[in-house]
Amino acid sequence: MKTEDLLAMGNESLFNTYKRDEKLFISGKGAYLKNNNDEVYIDFVSGIATNILGHANDKIVEAISKQAAKLMHTSNLFWNQPAIELSHKLVNSTGAGSLAKVFFTNSGAEANEGALKLARKYGKDTHGDGCTKIISLTDSFHGRTMATLTATGQTDMHEYFKPLLPGSVYVPLNDSEALKSAADAKTCAVLFETIQGEGGINTLSSEFIATLKSLQQEKDILLIIDEVQTGMGRTGTLFSFEQFGFKPDIITLAKGLGAGYPIGAFVATDAVADHFKSGDHGTTLGGNPLAAAVGNAVFDEIFQADLLNNSNIRGQQLADGLRQIAKNTGVIAEVKGLGLLIGVQFTDAVSSADILNACFEENMLVAGAKHNVIRLLPPLNVTETEIDEALLKFASAVEKSLK
Ligand SMILES: *Cc1c(COP(=O)(O)O)cnc(C)c1O
Repeated sequence: MKTEDLLAMGNESLFNTYKRDEKLFISGKGAYLKNNNDEVYIDFVSGIATNILGHANDKIVEAISKQAAKLMHTSNLFWNQPAIELSHKLVNSTGAGSLAKVFFTNSGAEANEGALKLARKYGKDTHGDGCTKIISLTDSFHGRTMATLTATGQTDMHEYFKPLLPGSVYVPLNDSEALKSAADAKTCAVLFETIQGEGGINTLSSEFIATLKSLQQEKDILLIIDEVQTGMGRTGTLFSFEQFGFKPDIITLAKGLGAGYPIGAFVATDAVADHFKSGDHGTTLGGNPLAAAVGNAVFDEIFQADLLNNSNIRGQQLADGLRQIAKNTGVIAEVKGLGLLIGVQFTDAVSSADILNACFEENMLVAGAKHNVIRLLPPLNVTETEIDEALLKFASAVEKSLK
């Protein structure tokens, strides 16, 4: 079938919720993708910060093949060996701190949804029926289900779907005074990212973190960290909160945890997790043997291949190269982020949408974000030469869009 016929079929029978133009990829290996015309692209989108081991990784292919041939799904009515093993790895990893129990899901939204339910149960059990209020931050992104859309602090996304979940308030990022006045006796939790991904690579200030910690200690307000994008080594530590000097009550994971296969999780301290009793929450497919087998392979590879270190070293190389491009072109206001979660903030002189298209012309895939930011999200096993190649392409894209 001709590509144009295939895409016409897609336009006919799939929802028009995504703007994909003519982009169709057929295969991939490592940091590279091949399209329907056999053209090769360097992939710094990685399925939106997801394919942390690159495309067609041998370990993932092997884990999927072996587990699929053995046992794919039994439901959570029964024990499941790969899930038990993966839960232990997550809670016993250096840096997990007092996080002790894992609930597996299929996606990031489902992980956040579960975390919000758990926070409400905790609030009601501990501080009475009215303790259900959730605080989140402006420019945050937490998912597309009703509860996570409500928690997402981007009003343009809310417009058509009101009424939202009652008891949700938004505080501007890094505004400690607003946070303090929003946090009352009816507040059960604050949900936030340490570095906002979709929102433009915006990082929490240390002062704001100190305020969050004081609310946690003095008012028993739970800190839920959405590590869906920042987790699993993306920022140079397994979980990003390790670098921010506080202990979460709940974290949520997805994206990198399955490296391209759907799996998510929320992980909580015993004191919080114990409030979910038998029947309080569930999922049919979440963390099934196949998904958990992939999670185990991903987790092991992060440590065997020293990917946390690679994330830091290659992240530094990428950020340094981008700062050089900033100097040479004068249209980049800031290069920000941690590890391999990097945002390039453009000045008003250029639009990041044009840069994204110019990168595509150079056979390089990048992701957009709010506030005129381009996100660079290579796989965590990206090599020095691949970063060099990407920097050349990016420089050329920025220079061309100046003309
Ligand atoms: C992608 C993302 C989500 C939603 O994950 P899905 O798997 O798409 O449901 C939630 N939070 C953050 C921070 C994300 O980046």
